[in-house]
Amino acid sequence: MALVLFNTFTRKKEEFIPLEPPYVRMYNCGPTVYDTFHIGNARNFVVVDVIRRYLMYKGYKVKFVQNITDIDDKIIARAQQEGASTEEIARRYTEYYFKYINLLGIMPADENPRATEFIPQMIEFVQKLVQKNSAYVVDGDVFFRIKSYPHYGELSGKKLDDLKKGARVDVDPRKEDPLDFALWKSAKPGEPYWESPWGKGRPGWHIECSVMSMAHLGETLDIHSGGIDLIFPHHENERAQSESLTNKQFVRYWLHNGFLNIESQKMSKSLGNILTIDSILEQYDPEVVRYFLISAHYRHPLDYSQTNLREAKSAWQRLVDSTITTDEIIRLLLKDGSIRESDIAQMNETIEQRLSTFRSQFEQAMDDDFNTAEAIAALFNIVGEINTLRENINQQLKNGHSPEPGKVSYLSALNKLLKELIGVLGFRLPEKPTLSSELTDNLIRILVDIRQKARQQKLFEFADMIRSRLNELGIVLEDHPQGTIWKFKQ
Ligand code: AMP
Ligand code: ZN
Repeated sequence: MALVLFNTFTRKKEEFIPLEPPYVRMYNCGPTVYDTFHIGNARNFVVVDVIRRYLMYKGYKVKFVQNITDIDDKIIARAQQEGASTEEIARRYTEYYFKYINLLGIMPADENPRATEFIPQMIEFVQKLVQKNSAYVVDGDVFFRIKSYPHYGELSGKKLDDLKKGARVDVDPRKEDPLDFALWKSAKPGEPYWESPWGKGRPGWHIECSVMSMAHLGETLDIHSGGIDLIFPHHENERAQSESLTNKQFVRYWLHNGFLNIESQKMSKSLGNILTIDSILEQYDPEVVRYFLISAHYRHPLDYSQTNLREAKSAWQRLVDSTITTDEIIRLLLKDGSIRESDIAQMNETIEQRLSTFRSQFEQAMDDDFNTAEAIAALFNIVGEINTLRENINQQLKNGHSPEPGKVSYLSALNKLLKELIGVLGFRLPEKPTLSSELTDNLIRILVDIRQKARQQKLFEFADMIRSRLNELGIVLEDHPQGTIWKFKQ
């Protein structure tokens, strides 16, 4: 099945074809580390984590880069407010960021470039734009000349005339065009600065992402993501300056997640309606938060409410409850006495078919622009099957019968599939209490002894069946002259 995704640039779903399959170069705009982050920001981080994991599941070799903006107006303002250095503020909130994305089960990025580590490259980038007439210098500031880039506005679908009309009245009169934006800003007194050909100053926000993404991923990225608020002006500007420099396509697929709203308003620091991730994680398990954040399609708005989180909590619990420990399978297997090889072979075929139907339901959902809502529904189809089967087996056992041939194998295979797909969405299952290792060992010893007896009586098929069934559960038997030992598969 082909993976299709919605490209903000073309405004339609397209088949995903990276520049050089199987490699995928992926960049997500990271946090500006001037404060804690909220559950709205977490939506972006979690959604992108799931997209990355699914691409890996599909066999792509993903290189994932997410920057840390550690110099910016907001960081400077916070430092001044607290009488601290910008480094101190950035260090504090970078630590916060890493601590909480780790708690949320987000895979570490392959690279986390920090803006302050790339200043020489940014200066060089801006210099080249000036040489190409794509930028101009005024009193130590450098502005991008949008007139030089005929495709400006194409990503956001904005018309230049409308943008100009909408531009604020207090436009810097030194700009040639109200839409020109700063690539380099001269330092105001008391602000941190770096030396540059234009005097003391610092980079603008947009140039940071162009430079850091290209430094690690090359001139053309396969996927560039962020929240929808970044489409304009941030990504529009990144595109303009990058393509002006390289004359190449900067990004093949632009992906943007919808907002997390609270009472129908975007959750944002400026509106003062935020819930920090630490406060949420005091109340809810990280897996519940992840469940909530991916319970809607990533492009749709998602409403934060206590009710929605409570629903996520009980749904997640239903998923956890339906997973089965190896111990339970062993226990059932011991009672599954009436199995014949021929039955198993027949059963296996049906089992394989059913398993692949469940797997493809999940894949179809994810292949359709990462529809996690549908993918979760596919998981619940497996849950339904597991629960029915479990009930059925337990009923048979209660009535003193052995389960029908292959049922326990099917249950075990469904369980394995469910756990695998839960993992693809980045969830971590809690450890379930298991039987004591001593009891497990004794139970397996019984099976080893039965197998030994079977072999002595030349019932080789039967003996092999015991070995292969244990193998399905991840238990390997090794025959040695001194006897048989068992171990878990590595
Ligand atoms: P920021 O640190 O504000 O630049 O945000 C980091 C990421 O979170 C960006 O991709 C934003 O677009 C995204 N973001 C910010 N607020 C929300 C929200 N309420 N819902 C979803 N994503 C958001
Ligand atoms: Zn960015």
